[in-house]
Amino acid sequence: MDRKISLSEISDGKLYGLNDMVKAGCNDCKGCSACCKGMGNSIILDPFDIFRLTTNRRESFEELLHDKIELNMVDGVILPNLKMVSEVQSCAFLNEEGRCSIHAYRPGICRIFPLGRYYENHSYHYILQIHECKNKNRSKVKVSKWIDTNDVKRNEQFILDWHYFLKNLQEQIKKSVDNNWIRNINLYLLNTFYQKPYVKEQNFYLQFEERFEQVKRYLETNKSFIE
Ligand code: SF4
Ligand code: SF4
Repeated sequence: MDRKISLSEISDGKLYGLNDMVKAGCNDCKGCSACCKGMGNSIILDPFDIFRLTTNRRESFEELLHDKIELNMVDGVILPNLKMVSEVQSCAFLNEEGRCSIHAYRPGICRIFPLGRYYENHSYHYILQIHECKNKNRSKVKVSKWIDTNDVKRNEQFILDWHYFLKNLQEQIKKSVDNNWIRNINLYLLNTFYQKPYVKEQNFYLQFEERFEQVKRYLETNKSFIE
């Protein structure tokens, strides 16, 4: 989801790469779980997040939908997000000790927090969001270490492919007057990228690429009426 606000409002104004040091280290969060509560539907899950969740928890997408995740419309596209539950609206994966119960396979947005991504010219940098983390004494840490993601270059390519694919599709949906097409493409995407089970033993990116090509072919042959 794109936010149309200036960098200086939400960040320290700098753009960071993988080899840069950034003040993101929150000292293991020590008793704080503020960013795991009251997040509404903002922690949106991409296909890699669902691969990690379904294969590590041995739960299907539909089982996760019972009480851990939910579906919402994001600029015309139906996408899953982490569900906030109980009176305090905490993430369904936050345990009684106030710790993340899925730390090893937590979603991408949680992995990089309090960093965010700033997309520009079919690329992106990391930004340090200054109003998000409650810990004001954060330590400096290398970005690549902080985001704690294997095969980070391949992951970055996936993030870019997914981001620009969604952005293009959202623009097409905005222009479309064809409600059937909008409904069908949403169902097709949900099924192809999220509901159809992933194989844990197989490389995620190869599975994604195959599905991505399939969706691109679908979009080529199923065009929408544009206003
Ligand atoms: S998945 Fe873990 S880190 Fe992310 S919001 Fe939920 S409890 Fe917090
Ligand atoms: S607000 Fe900061 S210190 Fe608190 S849980 Fe989130 S990342 Fe950790």
